[in-house]
Amino acid sequence: MDLTLPSEDLAWKARAKAFAESVLFPHELELETAGKLTRATKNALRRAVVEHGFHGVNHAREVGGQGCTQMQQTLINEELGKATGALWAVVWHPAVPLKHGTPEQIRDFLTPSCLGRRRACVAVTEPDTGSDTSLIATKAMRRGDRYVIDGEKWFVTSGDEADYVIVHAIVDGDPALPTLFLVDRDTPGLSIKREPKFTHTYVFGHPEFQFKGVEVGADRVLGGVGQGLELTKDWFVEARLQIAANCLGAAIRAFELANDWATKRVQFGGPIRRHQAIEFMLADMAVEIMAAKSMIYRVAWEIDQGIDRKVAHARASVIKLHASEMAGRVLDKAVQIFGGRGYMRENPVERLNRDVRVDRIWEGTSEIQRMIIGGQLGKRGTDLFTGWYQAPGT
Ligand SMILES: Cc1cc2nc3c(=O)[nH]c(=O)nc-3n(C[C@H](O)[C@H](O)[C@H](O)COP(=O)(O)OP(=O)(O)OC[C@H]3O[C@@H](n4cnc5c(N)ncnc54)[C@H](O)[C@@H]3O)c2cc1C
Repeated sequence: MDLTLPSEDLAWKARAKAFAESVLFPHELELETAGKLTRATKNALRRAVVEHGFHGVNHAREVGGQGCTQMQQTLINEELGKATGALWAVVWHPAVPLKHGTPEQIRDFLTPSCLGRRRACVAVTEPDTGSDTSLIATKAMRRGDRYVIDGEKWFVTSGDEADYVIVHAIVDGDPALPTLFLVDRDTPGLSIKREPKFTHTYVFGHPEFQFKGVEVGADRVLGGVGQGLELTKDWFVEARLQIAANCLGAAIRAFELANDWATKRVQFGGPIRRHQAIEFMLADMAVEIMAAKSMIYRVAWEIDQGIDRKVAHARASVIKLHASEMAGRVLDKAVQIFGGRGYMRENPVERLNRDVRVDRIWEGTSEIQRMIIGGQLGKRGTDLFTGWYQAPGT
């Protein structure tokens, strides 16, 4: 078994590390203090993403992306995940369902999104619809060859920056017809209702959108009428893989900072790492990170080998659940090791501690990941989780 990473993958990781440290980290305090970045800074960051070649890492070169493998994306997301304030989000990942667009949709939405000329947000959640997506009430009523969309969407990440919305609606109010629509932000009837504040300081907002008689043509249906849930599943899988890698990066940064601090800080006649209570916390953090990294890299590698889509779905839930809960435990210990300094917002550990909390909630809560894993266990048995990758034909 050869577990070495190819030099091309290591080069992506090194570039992402340099990008995070030289381009993202310098804006962390400004973002935390002001609560947002200026338009000029956001524009400069957008240019930097293109200059450093991180635009559309999750899409093929033919459509304007970088054609990165899942392993390369994982290595990049791990490094970017070290930035606080979710500054990793300035590196756009056009939603994966866009791959299923018509040639015109790829030309008008996916390619400009890869190139950083357009930006999407994805609107699934509603006031009465969270984990249970079968409750989606936003309707798209057919009127000849057009659709009229009415409903309300919550927690729409980057909705304040996006120039189009990928909205999940039910065609003709028929629950058997969940469908994604591409809606330009300036379409009449589409408005932001509220922009609430959240625990984390996030580089973009998570506004609530209102759709009132929003009219679009049939050419704005993405991937076919009735395909909404299937396409949304693909989006969840990709987002869960990204979250796992981001969490790994956040935990590693906090671990490194806490480890340095435990060496420097002297109390009761010596560095605090000499107290076994602190040393054991550091040891537990090391083990947690090593275990999570092993799982995350393995799943990325397996996806690159072409494992079955359903297996990938189950695996994505496993690593999202494990990495987000691991990051919560590691960050909590890092704060403790810093003592009072771990509670100061100027400390990256304090910010990361707030940042990773949402990773147990969004893109499916920890409970929902356990439901998915438990369901797959019931259907496919333990081997799905205890077995090992088998190459086709072996
Ligand atoms: C900062 C942020 C950004 C977000 N960005 C987006 C976005 O861009 N687009 C988007 O569409 N959504 C987004 N979301 C929404 C997010 O995906 C939902 O918050 C999440 O799926 C949970 O839904 P809910 O909040 O309605 O909780 P609920 O579904 O109401 O769940 C409440 C609690 O009940 C538990 N629960 C629910 N069902 C079960 C069950 N069957 N068994 C056991 N426990 C259960 C949950 O785990 C949770 O603990 C975002 C949320 C946040 C906080």
